[in-house]
Amino acid sequence: MSPGEKDRSAVGLPKYGDPGKGIGLPQDIKKSLLDDLGDLIAIDTSNPPGKELEAAKLVHARMASLGAFANLQEFSPGRGNAVCKIPFHRAEEGPCLIFNSHLDVVPAGETPWTHPPFEPRIIGDRIYGRGSCDAKGSIAAMMAAVRLSLSAAKTLRGELILTAVAAEETGGLGTQFWLKNRGKDSRPAVAIVGEPTSLKPFIAHKGVSRRKLSVQGRSAHSSDPAQGRNAIYPIARLALFIEELNERLGAKKHPLLGSPVASANVVRGGVKDNVIPDYCELQMDRRRIPGEGSEQFDHEINEWIQSMAARDPSFQCQVEVLGMDKEPVAISPEEPIVRAVIETIYEVTGRRESPRGLIAATDMTFLVHQGNIPSVILGPGNSSHVVDESVEISQLEKAALIYAHLIRRILSAEGSPG
Ligand SMILES: [Zn+2]
Repeated sequence: MSPGEKDRSAVGLPKYGDPGKGIGLPQDIKKSLLDDLGDLIAIDTSNPPGKELEAAKLVHARMASLGAFANLQEFSPGRGNAVCKIPFHRAEEGPCLIFNSHLDVVPAGETPWTHPPFEPRIIGDRIYGRGSCDAKGSIAAMMAAVRLSLSAAKTLRGELILTAVAAEETGGLGTQFWLKNRGKDSRPAVAIVGEPTSLKPFIAHKGVSRRKLSVQGRSAHSSDPAQGRNAIYPIARLALFIEELNERLGAKKHPLLGSPVASANVVRGGVKDNVIPDYCELQMDRRRIPGEGSEQFDHEINEWIQSMAARDPSFQCQVEVLGMDKEPVAISPEEPIVRAVIETIYEVTGRRESPRGLIAATDMTFLVHQGNIPSVILGPGNSSHVVDESVEISQLEKAALIYAHLIRRILSAEGSPG
């Protein structure tokens, strides 16, 4: 008998025998999970523009009907978070567990889908639709975990907060808005960030910064280039500089995140094949590892500008910040939440996982840096931002069970967060 086994039936969760064997969601909970997910997919929350409020209202209404103290945070017209608090026994004495995931999805794109993106379709063990995986599947699994845990309310302490947030795909305004308005809470808090990770635990991710560099030139007839100032040439040098920078960055390494990277991703300039171009711009992306601040990136850009100024003292370049910088983040593998997640994954799936690092950025950065909340990224599925996005129903069920058992483990009246 493993530690804590005796109280499983007491908290009303589905029992499991050997780790990973013979588990499944009760039929009524599975039905609610698929209904919740299907209804969320059917609300188009493509970002841009966002318009997540309808989806937030759905989460709000369904959690409120279960007895949660639910709150809508509309931070701009049509955009907002659903914040649902589920207080357990002696709420003020126990810790706070935060479930965070996002309601917005990336646009469906121009490529035709086999199944219309906002008409959920179940085929075999998969549910198809934009957001099925990233990240409405995580939200629906979290809602199912709440349903699974309600019967155990008396044996749990502390508080569970489900935050279904807006605007994750374009900078994380929703999570930051929630953090700003959270108020004082001295209880220890930990968070799970629902993103598609195939139910593997991620405890670090890279940071991201994007910049647009633009050069103003002077147009002339291309039969006499000396009369003009060609804006494409410096940007061509910049592209090569970024390629070299990326090679240089390969020498740095983080144990979970590997090397930082830089890339040139958009170039625009020129008007006609017989006109010297008077304008050219390049948009670049820099993924940073812990220890590299955004000033490091700005320093690299300056290095290039100065090398250009050394060739031509009149050289000028405009630098514009694109979107919002997201800082890299990593928590210690020794944090109790990491151990709790790894043990729970083992109990539910029979898999022994190790903490990993994610190369893409998530709202974990805000929870850790702004909220001081140790967080782990964990969710069902692995097909983000693709045509015919889908998620396995069996993964959704396992995710709901893992989330529910985490609630029990962390908010257990007898146990500690570890
Ligand atoms: Zn996502």
